[in-house]
Amino acid sequence: MTLTANDPSRKSWLNVPQDSDFPIQNIPFGVFITKDDVITIGTRIGNYAIDLGALQQLNYFEGIELTDDMFMQDTLNDFISDGKKTWRLVRNRIADIFDSNNPELRDNDKHKEVVIFNIEDVEMQLPVLIGDYTDFYSSREHATNVGKMFRDPDNALLPNWLHIPVGYHGRSSTIVPSGIPVHRPNGQTLPPGETQPVFGPSKRVDFELEMAFITTDANIMGEPIPVDEAEDHIFGMVLFNDWSARDIQKWEYVPLGPFLAKNFASSVSPWIVTLDALEPFRASGPEQNDPKPLEYLQQEGEHAFDIKLQVAIAPEDGEETVISNSNFKYMYWSMAQQLAHHTVNGCRVNSGDLMGSGTISGPTPDSFGSMLELTWGGQNPLKLSDGTERKFIEDGDTVIMRGYCQNDNIRIGFGEVSSKLLPPFSKK
Ligand code: CA
Repeated sequence: MTLTANDPSRKSWLNVPQDSDFPIQNIPFGVFITKDDVITIGTRIGNYAIDLGALQQLNYFEGIELTDDMFMQDTLNDFISDGKKTWRLVRNRIADIFDSNNPELRDNDKHKEVVIFNIEDVEMQLPVLIGDYTDFYSSREHATNVGKMFRDPDNALLPNWLHIPVGYHGRSSTIVPSGIPVHRPNGQTLPPGETQPVFGPSKRVDFELEMAFITTDANIMGEPIPVDEAEDHIFGMVLFNDWSARDIQKWEYVPLGPFLAKNFASSVSPWIVTLDALEPFRASGPEQNDPKPLEYLQQEGEHAFDIKLQVAIAPEDGEETVISNSNFKYMYWSMAQQLAHHTVNGCRVNSGDLMGSGTISGPTPDSFGSMLELTWGGQNPLKLSDGTERKFIEDGDTVIMRGYCQNDNIRIGFGEVSSKLLPPFSKK
């Protein structure tokens, strides 16, 4: 099926500001609550939120096989379950409805009133009910940096790393959408030079610059997803801040990996940008020749995506300072390889599962994806534009991540995931 929605020459009758992440070629999917307290599935063009439930009720999706309440739900899981063919039909239709040459909705003020909202007037929700959350560890630069700091500078990568898309099972109960503040966690740590642990607020709260992909019901239990088919089961991507407490992590992570250092919060951007919309931004990933992956992980063609990523910190009531610029294309393992590996043993993947990329660090120090790396374990504090310094994230700081793709014709972006760190939770 042709991705007519991706036509770069298409213009919308809705105003799209210059440099918007959401031109008519994007058509992401999300869930929002309107001023009238109605929850609906929607999309975004420019600074307008579009109610797909209302569009469906007004028959704008006629001819596409959809259940009657497909878009009047509070999650995208059922829509994602319908599969790639439906996603494409709906995205193409939305592009058609909002095309500047199509008068159907453009010239119908009554319909526009119930379909289109200003983005400031809606409240974005989590786009999917996340059943399972898996976090990979697929940036070679990040794994090398962490290996140097936590283990052995001369053998930073563990022997399995270049053979396995390493990952662990996280927890979905504390994944929150952009804008929801996060409490500094309490936990056990071993202070430097001590032999006995102490309990208290983490002193090393960090972000992890990640992206995550969201799957459809890809397989039945026992059935592996071949690497060449894996992309068909990926609905789209979001920005993902996987909050981490480095001091808790350091004390607890041997032998079974991170536990409470990672599951207190992860924040996602609210609009899922489809893999289809990212199609023009395919790129080559890093070479995988030394060693070559095992056969079930071997891929031909371009499976990385050129997505520019940025992290900024804004202190309480202060201006933001950009502290890192990275790119999703630096990932050593592709999403398809991650999904193929995840299911090679027969592990079942469901609609709405979320797979984090792992921290995305680039080759240069200004492209590292965590404070741990940017300040090299707190040794080299970063200076913010207000003159203050940061080794890690402080109470009142807001961490903002942005991501977009750009070529000569279009820009497709994710908006942002922005969340503030609050002091430890206390009962009022
Ligand atoms: Ca992570």
